[in-house]
Formats: sequence, structure tokens, C-alpha cells
Amino acid sequence: MHVVVIGAGIIGVTTAYFLRRDGHDVTVIERRSGVAQETSFANAGVMAPSYVAPWSQPGMPAKVLAYLFRPEAPIVFRPSLDPALWRWIVRWLGECRVERFTRNKARMQRLAFYSQAELRALRVLHQLEYEQTTGYLQLFRTHVEVERSAVTRKMLTELGVSHRLLGTDEAHALEPALHAPTRLAGALHLPDDETGNCAFFAQQLKDIAIDDGVDFRFNVAVQGLQFEKQRISGVRTASGNVGGDVFVVAAGIDSAAMLRPLGIRVPMQPVKGYSATAAITAFEHAPRLSVMDETYKVAITRMGKWLRIAGTAELGTRGMQLRDSALRTLLKVAQDWFPYAASYGKSRFWIGARPMLPDGPPVLGTTPIANLYVNTGHGSTGWVMACGSARVVADVIAGKVPAIDLDGLTLDRYTHRR
Ligand SMILES: Cc1cc2nc3c(=O)[nH]c(=O)nc-3n(C[C@H](O)[C@H](O)[C@H](O)COP(=O)(O)OP(=O)(O)OC[C@H]3O[C@@H](n4cnc5c(N)ncnc54)[C@H](O)[C@@H]3O)c2cc1C
Repeated sequence: MHVVVIGAGIIGVTTAYFLRRDGHDVTVIERRSGVAQETSFANAGVMAPSYVAPWSQPGMPAKVLAYLFRPEAPIVFRPSLDPALWRWIVRWLGECRVERFTRNKARMQRLAFYSQAELRALRVLHQLEYEQTTGYLQLFRTHVEVERSAVTRKMLTELGVSHRLLGTDEAHALEPALHAPTRLAGALHLPDDETGNCAFFAQQLKDIAIDDGVDFRFNVAVQGLQFEKQRISGVRTASGNVGGDVFVVAAGIDSAAMLRPLGIRVPMQPVKGYSATAAITAFEHAPRLSVMDETYKVAITRMGKWLRIAGTAELGTRGMQLRDSALRTLLKVAQDWFPYAASYGKSRFWIGARPMLPDGPPVLGTTPIANLYVNTGHGSTGWVMACGSARVVADVIAGKVPAIDLDGLTLDRYTHRR
């Protein structure tokens, strides 16, 4: 079969790879000049399946309101008159209920753990090096945060995930680069969680896929999907139409607009975030482990010779301009913990738009159109879910039974409301 994949972010690239492995002819169409140049470009790189959870969670609406007028807040909401935004918020509020949150989180974690196993298998198979590190440390500035972590710790125990609550001295002993004068009440150590450079991984997998015969067409924007006789017959581009037997929409935040003319409504909103990448100048002062500042929800990840500092969730804002106060918060947190590690003044800044669905899990697999498939809506956790999502979609296209239960991970939940 000839399969056309639209989008070459981490989701499109992994999808193309698994489709090719199943023996299909694969064409990937990407409007940028290379892979992973949009949301997959400079994300935090964290792969912590046990921490995967929907943004719609109990207590979140109150947090959003509390932060409403604070520019340095880790969560920013700018209300506008856009009806789609308000429809999304109404759904999102409904999904913040405890029982919905618990169900959605379980669905996401099922996919994330499977995905981690698939990624590890690929890493061994192809000897991939993508600046990966092992070990994750959640930093608590206050005793209240330490106490609140009891819920997380209980959940980690239930999931069988290795973890340990550390006192201040133990945390400093484990990560000696932590700046001692910065107030630290405790930390949660997850020794098996990983981080890695998502864009590097995508580039390497793209090279492997090209060697294997996948046709990547860069600088080609899809203008629409051609619908004839109840099927998709091709995609329209400025340089002509591209035909195929099967089509997969993996266009990140643009997926919803691409599907809408076909009557397929995916309630997706961009939730923006920022990162700063700074060159490490003093390796002895740089972290060995990846850390997450619980107060500011900022992750600091070591990627080779660089520190990646990422955070902020911003809903309702227009445009993709960098916002100074968000960038200042990133640098403040990095300098609080690792003041001598990197040349922060020369940081490269980035903004990305998380393709967020109101309930959390992505949409994988079939659509109401027989030869059209989706792999999109991965929100804040597309890197950790990528390999599993891609494998699942390739399995569905091949008519195989995926290794995980797809309940709650498909488009059915929007097309057939339950
Ligand atoms: C600040 C920040 C930190 C994050 N940290 C993490 C993290 O630590 N761990 C994690 O798991 N996830 C993280 N994420 C989320 C993760 O980055 C995303 O979920 C993931 O990158 C989404 O991948 P994607 O391939 O769906 O989208 P994208 O990477 O955006 O790819 C979509 C592609 O489709 C192309 N495209 C769109 N429309 C068209 C068209 N019409 N024609 C041709 N091509 C088209 C785009 O150019 C793009 O290349 C973070 C996100 C942000 C913003």
C-alpha cells in the first residue's frame, strides 16, 4: 500500500518509520525544510511515563483562575471571544472531575509505558544516541509541596515505579550541582525516567527511514485533502496533487483545521510553552539528572553540551511571539538551581504550541473515512507517547491488533459522544 503521512514532527516521523517497517510505500509531506521544526523542536525532552497526566485535572481550574493576572505564572489563560476556545473550555472543565481525570490518566499512561518500551527497543536496534540521560528529580521548594507529593508517591507505588523521597541533604548529595543557598525542602527521585533530545531522535529516525525507502517531501504544504467517492483520493499542494491508498494526518496543531472540511471535528487548542537553551560553560556546575521545579513547573534538562529549560502553559493567546516574562521565569529558575552552569545571557529562546485535546489522550487510528487515519493531539506529552502511538497506528492500518487496548485513545470518543 502507498501511505501518505502529513507532517514530519516526532509523531509523523515515527509513524512513517513503523509504516515502512510493515512494508508499505511511504511518502511524508512536510511544509518545513526538515523534520521536527515545530512543536517537536526544543521541548523539555522529558520521558517520564508515570508523570504523564491530562492537563484537565482536579484543582486545575482554580489554579488557572488564581494565576489569571500574574504574568510570571506557570499557567496563563487569556480569555477571548473565540467560540471554539469556550467550547473547548467547557469540555475541559467537565474532564477535570476526579473520575474523568483518573480514567484519562490511566489511558495516557497505558500508551506512555508502551511507548517507552518501543523507544527503548528502537534505541537498541539502531544504536540511537539522542543526548539521552537517565534519572529525574522533582524539586520541592516548600514543605507543603513535599506533603502534597504523597498522592504522587502513592500512585507511583501502585504503578510499581521505582522512586524515593529525599530530604534536602540527600538531594544535594545525589545532585551536587544544585545551588545550596536556594531553598529546597525535599525532592522526589525517579531513577528510571529518561530525557532526550526529541528533535535529534526525529532526525536520526528520518535518516533511517530514508535509507529504508521512505520518501520525505520537504517545503511542501498540504492545502487540503481531496474527498471523492467516500474516500480520500489525494492531498492538494502548490506543487501538484499527491495520491495514495491511505492517508495519515499527523500535522500537530494544524490537524484539526485539516480535518474540519471533511466534517471531522477534533476539539484541539494550542497550549503554548517556551524553552531556553543555553551552552554549558562549567560542566562541574551543571546537573547530571534532569530536574523539575515543582513551584514554577519548569524542567531543566541536560542535552549534551546544552541545558534546556522549558515550561509555561499558555491558553487563549494569539500569535507565536516570545513573551518576556515567561522567558525571565525560565532563566530565574535555572539560575536559582544552577547559577554557574551555563551562559544564560546567550540563551536561544523558543516557543511551541502543544496540540491539546480537552480530555488529554491523543486520537489514534481510524476516522469515519475508510482510508483516512489520525495520529495527533498529544498535548504536553507527544515525545514520550510518540513511538507507541506510531506503532499503534501502523498496526491499525495493517489490520493487526495493537499491543495495547485503544479504548479512549481513538476519535470515536468525539464522533460518538458517550
Ligand atoms: C514547552 C514545551 C515543552 C514540552 N515538553 C515535553 C516533554 O518534556 N515531553 C513530552 O513528551 N512532550 C513535551 N512537549 C510536547 C511535545 O513537544 C508535543 O506533544 C509534540 O512535539 C507534538 O508532536 P507533533 O508531531 O504532533 O507536532 P509537531 O512537532 O508540531 O509536528 C507537526 C508537523 O506537521 C507539519 N504540518 C502542519 N500542517 C502542515 C501542512 N498543511 N502541510 C505540511 N505539513 C504540515 C508542521 O510543519 C510540523 O512539522 C512539550 C511541548 C512544549 C511546547
